[in-house]
Amino acid sequence: MNKKLFVISGSSGVGKGTVIGGFLKRNPHFTLSISCTTRQMRPGEVDGVNYFFLSKEEFKECIDGDKFLEWAEFAGNFYGTKQKYIMQCLEDGKNLILEIDTQGAMQVKKKMPESVLIFIAPPSFEALEKRLRGRHTEDEATIQRRLDAVKKELERAESFDYQIINDDIENAIESLEYIIKKELA
Ligand code: 5GP
Repeated sequence: MNKKLFVISGSSGVGKGTVIGGFLKRNPHFTLSISCTTRQMRPGEVDGVNYFFLSKEEFKECIDGDKFLEWAEFAGNFYGTKQKYIMQCLEDGKNLILEIDTQGAMQVKKKMPESVLIFIAPPSFEALEKRLRGRHTEDEATIQRRLDAVKKELERAESFDYQIINDDIENAIESLEYIIKKELA
């Protein structure tokens, strides 16, 4: 295994997708892992592109069959990364990015201590709440569950290798690029 695994976490609505997307546009040779989830597809999402959308039964079968490198329950849904896919990418010499929650990130670090954990933090909790509500894709109960999850995420982020504060998208992309290049040097 000669390539690195970068695990990026951040609270929902923090804009981590935009930061990672900006990084990948400039660094197209990086591979973004596609996770499995049991949550409902949002408008515009495509199965096999954004996620592999599984039923709860299918997800449970993968857990029982020990197919996941990591998995977690997040805000009432299950999310997981397939072990085989990750190992194959690393064997193929690809630098991989996993965009997963902090519970999953800590499982990956335990199994693969050489992985690099990066947390994208909101400038403030209030800013994040505003962004999450502005998305208009979830109902109030879902938003509340996500805000509770955010608090837990911020606590776990303390043990990450790096933290980037996303107060400006462009700066955040540059910080991510800097960290990843430094780790690969
Ligand atoms: P969303 O439903 O907004 O796409 O994602 C909710 C949370 O699940 C985000 O924090 C995202 O990073 C996390 N997530 C996505 N895929 C995975 C995965 O494979 N494993 C884990 N543990 N979390 C994931």
